[in-house]
Amino acid sequence: MKYNEIKNYLNGKFVLGMGEKYNIYAPINGEIIGEFKAATKDQLDEVVAKAKVAQVSWGGLTAKSRSKVIYKYRELLMKYREELSFINCEESGKSMEEAYAGVDKAIELTEFACSIPQLISGKTQDVSRGVNCKEERRSLGVVASITPFNFPVMVPHWTVPNAIALGNAIILKPSELTPISAMKMAELWEEAGLPEGIFNVVNGGKEIVERICDNKDIVAISFVGSTPVAEIVYKRGTANSKRVLGLGGAKNHIIVMPDANPEAGSRDIISSAFGMSGQRCMAVSVMICVGIIDDVYREVIEKAKNMVPGVDIPPVISEAAIKKIEDYLDYAEKNGAEIVVDGRKAKLDKGYFIGPSIIDWGISENMSHEEIFGPVLEVRNTNTIAGAAAIQNESPYGNAAAIFTQNGKFVNEAIREFQAGMLGVNIGVPVPREPFSFGGIKDSKFGYGDITGVSSIDFWTNLIKITTKWNPEYKVDWMS
Ligand code: NAD
Repeated sequence: MKYNEIKNYLNGKFVLGMGEKYNIYAPINGEIIGEFKAATKDQLDEVVAKAKVAQVSWGGLTAKSRSKVIYKYRELLMKYREELSFINCEESGKSMEEAYAGVDKAIELTEFACSIPQLISGKTQDVSRGVNCKEERRSLGVVASITPFNFPVMVPHWTVPNAIALGNAIILKPSELTPISAMKMAELWEEAGLPEGIFNVVNGGKEIVERICDNKDIVAISFVGSTPVAEIVYKRGTANSKRVLGLGGAKNHIIVMPDANPEAGSRDIISSAFGMSGQRCMAVSVMICVGIIDDVYREVIEKAKNMVPGVDIPPVISEAAIKKIEDYLDYAEKNGAEIVVDGRKAKLDKGYFIGPSIIDWGISENMSHEEIFGPVLEVRNTNTIAGAAAIQNESPYGNAAAIFTQNGKFVNEAIREFQAGMLGVNIGVPVPREPFSFGGIKDSKFGYGDITGVSSIDFWTNLIKITTKWNPEYKVDWMS
């Protein structure tokens, strides 16, 4: 095994779990590269109790003092960029290019956290003579972040640096499929000088997530993963009176108009649909052709046919993911769709590789709303933007949607009609970069607010209002 037994990081120490055993598989060849035992309820309860004590001192520091550690952590992310990217690539199967991008994005997110002292100075105003109101941000206490397999470095950085910069102690629960990167993050936080107990990692699956939802001293949970689990965590966490933000799955649509640029449009659509083997929550899954868009479609098909698994397209995460894709292609065939490009034919014997697939439904309405989360692009046809918007609106999800056109009128109409939290014009992956915040709507999100950017400041703090009166005069106005 390449990696020694993966530990938990509890109150500044790397500690073996005492629960159920998990193997970690490399998607590139299906070999076991590591293993770990899940943290138990007792281990979780103990680390939360210690984090609660440690947080009092950390939360009591000024934001500027805390940010010194965050700056140092950012430097270390740069220093260990190569190593962290390599681990990221090995455990998730993504290409090195994508792995570097994940770490670079983590650096950008950490830079936002460094700027938090500049963003949180509260308002103050004399609201009547001698009476002043001011507001300040206060940390919540011990919080948790539960993350999915597809971005083992980037997604934890959506939450961890901001939560820590705002004075909280955090428990990170990475995906059981990709838990190795979090160990490196723990080393870096330690080297950056973060006090013990402020950043912690517990490993495991469903059971430890349930224990997080039930632990009375964890006051807020951020979750990123599939919609069914986001809903479970949201309901269980809020039933236990916690603040919960749960980001769920997606099935994103791109409308292509006849005037879309065939080369740039097809390149973006291909990279959105098949980059990272379609395992991005911002990947396009459905291309809606409005009228005749033969030039773009021909290019998309040509480019997809030329993609070679292992060269242009990385593996998916598991054998189960391959089966889900194959089952969906079977479903499409049985329900009248044409398989224009069949990724099953390009499947490799070793590793979890499958080729890109394009499923053309024409004007049929049999396409399922299920998220496939693999290199599968579905195609629908209609004649108007209103028709395209109706198809997009049918989706229970609302993460992202985009339009490809050169016409501003089409753009305005599509933007007005789309039901999604992140919209794009001539861009296949419309991820809002810092300081803008990331988050969908409908079944792609449970709870209020977004997970990154300025919105995250609300999530990780309480806004405290302080009213002061030094003027002893009576009846200056109706409030005194
Ligand atoms: P997942 O829902 O299977 O797992 C996410 C986390 O939940 C993991 O830490 C896992 O251990 C835990 N978990 C799994 N089943 C559970 C259960 N029954 N009870 C409690 N906890 C459980 O998601 P995944 O397969 O790791 O990631 C892919 C999914 O994440 C896709 O649906 C993708 O769209 C979504 N995703 C969404 C966003 C977003 O921003 N909306 C970002 C990345 C990924």
